Amino acid sequence: MGILDRFGLQGQRALITGASKGIGLACARALAQAGAHVILTARDAAALQQVAADLAAEGHSAEWHVLDVTDSAAATALAGRLGPLDVVVANAGIARAGTAAEAAGDDLVQDVMNTNFYGVLYTVRAFGAQMLAAGKGAIVAIGSISGDISNRPQNQSYYNASKAAVHHLVRSMGAEWAGRGVRVNAVAPGYIETEMTKYAMVDDPVMAAKWMELTPMARAGQPDEIASIVVFLASAASSYMTGSVVTADGGYTCW
Ligand code: NDP
Repeated sequence: MGILDRFGLQGQRALITGASKGIGLACARALAQAGAHVILTARDAAALQQVAADLAAEGHSAEWHVLDVTDSAAATALAGRLGPLDVVVANAGIARAGTAAEAAGDDLVQDVMNTNFYGVLYTVRAFGAQMLAAGKGAIVAIGSISGDISNRPQNQSYYNASKAAVHHLVRSMGAEWAGRGVRVNAVAPGYIETEMTKYAMVDDPVMAAKWMELTPMARAGQPDEIASIVVFLASAASSYMTGSVVTADGGYTCW
């Protein structure tokens, strides 16, 4: 096997949560380009149907299922139906930035934790259990630099805490499952151009300029700049990695 062959995912099945747009969609396309059959999940059925059709038109193999990651029983049921997968990308997340810590009410905090932390935990637990039974698999969660630093100028303490929890879940599960063939890693992106960051990148030039001033590369990342790292972490090219959180942030966390 040549070194580049280790990046390939031919004959593998890869499930992505939040695959209807943004980073999740880029991951789905990248994993498909690496040879995997992709299983797209999110809440919006029409959007998933469109993505599956687009990927099929590009010559890829895709199916889709509605899955709300906050629904633990639904994750377990889908994992049971699909059986052991080779790759799972726990990407679905929400930001809801902009509320001061002292004003963040229970509903807001619980919504963000339910999606970003419990959603990842339910996904990894359900699909990971199938992988453990099969003795192999690679899981990649999408964390954030917000799990390591506190962003500015926007207030989002609850989001930052949810991502810190994801990072430590990945480290803990990676260590716990290391001897059983299942690897668990994460990517921690900086600012990426998606609908999640549109409120600043498009709608608030002052905030967008501040973000870029704080980023050594002075630009936002594109979803496929995260997806390529996900392919690496999903593939045999990263076979000695587990419990790692890989930062991709244009240098943001260096300053
Ligand atoms: P988008 O808002 O563009 O996409 C979010 C995706 O998550 C959608 O497909 C959405 O689909 C899905 N989703 C949201 N809630 C749920 C839910 N309860 N169940 C299932 N799917 C859900 O966001 P991004 O692509 O920007 O973000 C993807 C991930 O990357 C998130 O975890 C985010 O925190 C993280 N991230 C993003 C950064 C950025 O700068 N953009 C930076 C760092 C991390 P639907 O609504 O159909 O369910």
